[in-house]
Amino acid sequence: MSFNNLQLIEPVLKALIHEGYTKPTPIQEKSIPAILQHKDLLGCAQTGTGKTAAFAIPMLQLMHEQQQQSPQGRRNIKALVLTPTRELAIQIEESFKAYGRYLDLRHLVIFGGVSQVAQVNALRRGVDILVATPGRLLDLMNQGHISLRDIKFFVLDEADRMLDMGFVHDVKRVIAKLPAKRQTLFFSATMPPEIQQLANVLLTNPVKVAVTP
Ligand code: AMP
Repeated sequence: MSFNNLQLIEPVLKALIHEGYTKPTPIQEKSIPAILQHKDLLGCAQTGTGKTAAFAIPMLQLMHEQQQQSPQGRRNIKALVLTPTRELAIQIEESFKAYGRYLDLRHLVIFGGVSQVAQVNALRRGVDILVATPGRLLDLMNQGHISLRDIKFFVLDEADRMLDMGFVHDVKRVIAKLPAKRQTLFFSATMPPEIQQLANVLLTNPVKVAVTP
């Protein structure tokens, strides 16, 4: 299997060549076609499996196609990726930057423990894809700097770790603000009952993908 078999558009394939990727990992092989078909996804996978590219690549492609069909004036947040730690958030934003290097989509990463000024300024300039940790996201939502009204893609990354770190209420507060009509991609390394329950609430007829590193 090569990336050429996955119906990817030229600017995305070019970015993957730039990264030096020659073939998709198992989770990418299974997830990319499902996401391109607008399906919800339940991915049981750890870091190291290539799961970030498995969701970032098809999201970038779908968002680019949407942008070509209806160019917009002001940019609004259309994709939200929620992840438990600052390190993961930074890595994920770097992935969007790398795979989207030949596209015109803007991404931003926000997390707590630092001043919010630069983050708010970047939000004002317009963002398509927002990568966030839950606390800072809720803070900026409560201050009116972020609206989730136009979200078309929601990714919950490392769901089990999110709950382990005590973010369950924050995650539920974010979920409550998401539009009902959206595509949801849910990733967790383990699937204990609490996570399965959360997945059931969030996902509609998901394609299920499980891989071991
Ligand atoms: P992740 O599991 O998303 O944290 O990715 C783990 C690492 O694998 C990252 O450093 C990626 O850059 C790399 N990676 C992801 N997909 C591929 C691929 N298809 N070929 C080579 N490296 C990859």
